[in-house]
Amino acid sequence: MIYLDSAATTAVRREVIEAMWPYLTAEFGNPSSHHSLGEAAAQALKAARATIAQLLGCRASEIIFTSGGTEADNLAIKGIALAAPRCRHIVTSTIEHEAVLESCGYLHRHHGFEITYLPVDRQGLISLEHAAAAIRPDTTLCSIMLANNEVGTIQPIQELAGIAHAAGVPIHTDAVQAAGALDLNIGNLGVDALSLSGHKFGAPKGTGLLYLRGRLTIEPVLHGGGQERGRRSGTESVAGAVALAKAFQMAETSRLESAQRLSKLRDDFIAAVLSFVPSAILTGDSVKRLPGSASFCFPETSGEAVLLYLEEHEIICSSGSACAAGADRPSHVLLAMGLEPAIAQTAVRFTLSESTTAEELSRVALTIRDAIHSLTRSK
Ligand code: PLP
Repeated sequence: MIYLDSAATTAVRREVIEAMWPYLTAEFGNPSSHHSLGEAAAQALKAARATIAQLLGCRASEIIFTSGGTEADNLAIKGIALAAPRCRHIVTSTIEHEAVLESCGYLHRHHGFEITYLPVDRQGLISLEHAAAAIRPDTTLCSIMLANNEVGTIQPIQELAGIAHAAGVPIHTDAVQAAGALDLNIGNLGVDALSLSGHKFGAPKGTGLLYLRGRLTIEPVLHGGGQERGRRSGTESVAGAVALAKAFQMAETSRLESAQRLSKLRDDFIAAVLSFVPSAILTGDSVKRLPGSASFCFPETSGEAVLLYLEEHEIICSSGSACAAGADRPSHVLLAMGLEPAIAQTAVRFTLSESTTAEELSRVALTIRDAIHSLTRSK
């Protein structure tokens, strides 16, 4: 099987399983317990937090462990917005993940917030001028993703952070797809909040974090025992935090080399697909895109039919985001980029991993050619 759906999820790395194993077995303590088993768990949690903080270039106290990217996005958006309820305006974009869009939708429906959705161009890029114009005196947060999960387009977050800060507005970025691919140093990005999800880079599903700049206050989404400095109640998953730290460390260690290798593989793959299938449309920016992301529309087919054909040939990919896949409505991202609904329905996304090889991609490109040939002939 050739797996080209890393943006949906990744396998847990062996080293990560080894690192977390003790905290699922002998060292199973609750980090809030005041006995030796609890203290060992608290130490492991502290070490995991310190490792991640060092990799992100922030303080350990600024890391909040969550159950994944969705929770981190919810906590950032609802948490920041509800902590300053007199400012009731949020700036986001039309191509965000549902975790961001639905959090904003909730604030609009139940708390009267106004949401400005920045448009994107054909490549999926927001404009800095639009962003600057959208910020108002009552804007409480700007939330723009670092890289898109469907088309891989990378947004100019550093510049956006400058614009938001000049207006005194904090900025959150959903960096779920960027871990292991882009520089996530907080100082370099200049963001005030950043979401990560462990299962996108070799940690188990159900792990993630929110970086939150120290001086920002948030209203918790989960209330209870006051863990994570009162910002996210619930007994921490010690094994999950240890796994997240180990996986992030490994992803960061290989990031530059991996990004270089994958960008080359991706570009060769895109060139092969476009030459085999002249009608194919590359979606997303051809340069400002994630190293391992290649996404296309294949007019005159359906994305689902292409997926089925590829799966019959032992190639696993996706028709868009895992959440939107299977839904019969076209992707909101592709529609926002100006694609016709009929074309957007034909989307297929290939996302590479560290184990992807040039030989595999050559086979996939040839199989895509056969798929499109067979599907358009049988129409
Ligand atoms: N944000 C983006 C950009 C994503 O791609 C995903 C998952 O696909 C999420 C958020 C949600 O993360 P999780 O699956 O950890 O809840």
